[in-house]
Amino acid sequence: MATGGNGASSPWVVYKFGGSSVASAGHYRAVGALIGASKAPRLAVVVSAMRGVTDRLLGLLQQAEAGAAFDDGLKDLEEHQYGVHRELIGTIPESLDRNFEDLHDLLHAVRLARFAGAPVRDLVSGMGELWSAGLLAAHLARQGREARFVDPREFMLVTRGEMGPEVDWSESARLLADHAADRGDCWVVPGYVAREPGGRMTTLGRNGSDFSAAIIGRLLGAREIEIWTDVDGVMSADPALVPDALVLDKLSYDEALELAYFGARVIHPKTLAPAIELQIPIRIRNTFHPDHPGTLIGERDDEEFRIKGITSIDGLALVNIEGAGMIGVPGTARRVFGALQRGAISVVLISQASSEHSICVCVEAAAAGAAVEKLNEEFSSELASGKIQRILPTEEVSILAVVGDSMAGQPGIAARYFTALADAGINVRAIAQGSSERNISAVIDHEDVQRGLRAVHSAFYLSPQTVSVGILGTGHVGGALLDQLAGELDRLRTEAGVDIRVRAIARSREMVLADPSIAPADWRVAFEQSAVATDLDALAAHVHADHLPHAVLIDLTASEEVALRHAGWLGQGLNVITANKKANAADYSVYREIRRAARAAGARYLYETNVGAGLPVVQTLRDLRQTGDRIESIEGILSGTLAYLFNIFDASRPFSELVRDAWNEGYTEPDPRDDLSGMDVARKLVILAREVGIKLDLGDLEVESLTPPDLTGGGVEDFLKGLAKHDETMAQRYRAAVERGQVLRFVGRMDRAGRGRIGLVEVPSDHVFAQIDLTDNVVRYTTARYDRNPLIVRGPGAGPAVTAAGVFADLLRLCSMLGARI
Ligand code: ADP
Ligand code: ASP
Ligand code: MG
Repeated sequence: MATGGNGASSPWVVYKFGGSSVASAGHYRAVGALIGASKAPRLAVVVSAMRGVTDRLLGLLQQAEAGAAFDDGLKDLEEHQYGVHRELIGTIPESLDRNFEDLHDLLHAVRLARFAGAPVRDLVSGMGELWSAGLLAAHLARQGREARFVDPREFMLVTRGEMGPEVDWSESARLLADHAADRGDCWVVPGYVAREPGGRMTTLGRNGSDFSAAIIGRLLGAREIEIWTDVDGVMSADPALVPDALVLDKLSYDEALELAYFGARVIHPKTLAPAIELQIPIRIRNTFHPDHPGTLIGERDDEEFRIKGITSIDGLALVNIEGAGMIGVPGTARRVFGALQRGAISVVLISQASSEHSICVCVEAAAAGAAVEKLNEEFSSELASGKIQRILPTEEVSILAVVGDSMAGQPGIAARYFTALADAGINVRAIAQGSSERNISAVIDHEDVQRGLRAVHSAFYLSPQTVSVGILGTGHVGGALLDQLAGELDRLRTEAGVDIRVRAIARSREMVLADPSIAPADWRVAFEQSAVATDLDALAAHVHADHLPHAVLIDLTASEEVALRHAGWLGQGLNVITANKKANAADYSVYREIRRAARAAGARYLYETNVGAGLPVVQTLRDLRQTGDRIESIEGILSGTLAYLFNIFDASRPFSELVRDAWNEGYTEPDPRDDLSGMDVARKLVILAREVGIKLDLGDLEVESLTPPDLTGGGVEDFLKGLAKHDETMAQRYRAAVERGQVLRFVGRMDRAGRGRIGLVEVPSDHVFAQIDLTDNVVRYTTARYDRNPLIVRGPGAGPAVTAAGVFADLLRLCSMLGARI
């Protein structure tokens, strides 16, 4: 035989390339390069049909069986094959031409007979592998590699058993020794096809090329089998369904078997059996990322417990047998199995309530009717006498399974699993723990599968403080926040287990949504490359992803429209952090609705930057109140812009010129009247009042506007010109104050009854409000405890960096509330 040694000393390595690895001429080149780079002394390369080709061949058969025309489909397939052959090797082999003629004739016969028996089906569906292997061998030959086409139909002998194809190992080994001994050191072997006793061609079932690789591995006594595919390895869940799935570096054979059985398409359960017997290690690797080591499947060597994977099987039905008459009656489960076996129905899962009042079995959906019929027959007398009430099927269910060695020994696993499902609002219809204790399965409705997979995956794999973040607004504050996040995210992840993922960023017209996240440092590039039109509903849905434990939207806009959405988001369970004060200062009913929605959904609403930018103004007030202090009055300079203007105004230059300079420098709102009108200060005072329980609206405050009444309309330029007419009045006010030893300050004040006034006042020059610099804000709380000497919070109260830092601090506060130890 062609083998030479066994196990680690064997010269043979088996590579298998799946359909996803050979989807185009370019793919074959990549595969060729990988084979060229292999250091194995002897290499058997098993190759699948090009992606989609088996499906197309089976589709043609189906059309022909239905009596439909197949010529167009056949032509398409032919052109596709010819195209790739031409591109890769420059010619069309004669055998391919002949194959297509045969294929046409076969389909024609099927169409006439309206029937394709197993031999024809095998012949047709296996053609893809023959073409693919022929093409790869030709390509390798052109590359100067001596590669030989080795036909498994000469030696791989299988019979069809009840459980699918069974290999006749001794006969196969004998045939291989006869046929393939002299085929050199690099074999190219079509997967999926094999030989039946008598020499007829057969196939190994869908995804059978994996099995081919394992059979050849065992026949050659290979030292390793490498399954090359389009993912980096076996992952903790199907990455197509769970975006956060991780590559597993190692799996035991048993775990891999269990995962494969429960639907992880990346490995085929059959693949493992021949390899396990000889303990051949199997490595799953990525053709398109060959530097990645992939997943090693082998003997179990680490006792360290971990959940390895979460999988699902769709297309099932649950049959429930219910009745008090089963209680204490031995042998019921045996009779259930017996009945189903007589119908050749395989049971995927069985679960019996400990009360023995019901038994349910999970079977393939297509077998549900037959299962009910067999069970009705078996239990006809119990049904007639009422001992069993009913036998009912539930269609469209799926199994969700968590897999890992020795799970049962670990307390809390099942609790975490079922809590995750319950938190996601998923109804569990039946539960089973495999007797191997390597798996816990739950039967759930099919429509819940994706959500269930994601919820369970996040419960086992993600940091519980994984937060999905959406940022609205990319102005100065948004940009600064993203810069700050870029500098801290790694540290937060490693030091505190806080995994902050910016998954959406929006501005008024366009937004970017990303999975798993947008690197904060690259957000501008993300907008250039993948911006779409802004749609706040889509954004909220994306941020509020099932597979991540928490979600928060951060509103850095000044938009009323966005503010009015806060309550809705909170009601959906999204946390909201806002620098936009329009919601908190809106009509009291809006304010109340926000609180109600947040409470009902258990979501958090954080808005420290609504007053005093990053200064701890709101939190301080909240602490005072919650520790039982009584607020007597709140006073302060609450506008950075107005603070700045009156800090520098000394009547040596006209007030209107200072406003113009500040406006030019970007220290004011785009329309400086928004600052001068006092409304911004009024909003902040309303927010603080509401924080201590005073039901205040904007209209309840007395506000002195610095915008003269005749200048409220018109454009900014006209306003600034018009303001000059009032310069003298302002200069007089200043000089009068100075004469009295006072300075001018724009101050908001409110007493404990909620009576408040906002406007320009004189304060003594040694007063704390007089002692501020630049854009400083200062807030003074007089309380029952802070009585003669009020509590003062003071510091820079405007600017992108400090505001962004205040928002960032809110985000970290949220993470703490969610359990992080920061
Ligand atoms: P090939 O064509 O190489 O045989 P398959 O499509 O049969 O590839 O298998 C690879 C696919 O299996 C992946 O692209 C992935 O979508 C899917 N898959 C399902 N479950 C898992 C899992 N647990 N880990 C990795 N991939 C999985
Ligand atoms: N081509 C076959 C299929 O699609 C076998 C395989 O790819 O493994 O099922
Ligand atoms: Mg496959």
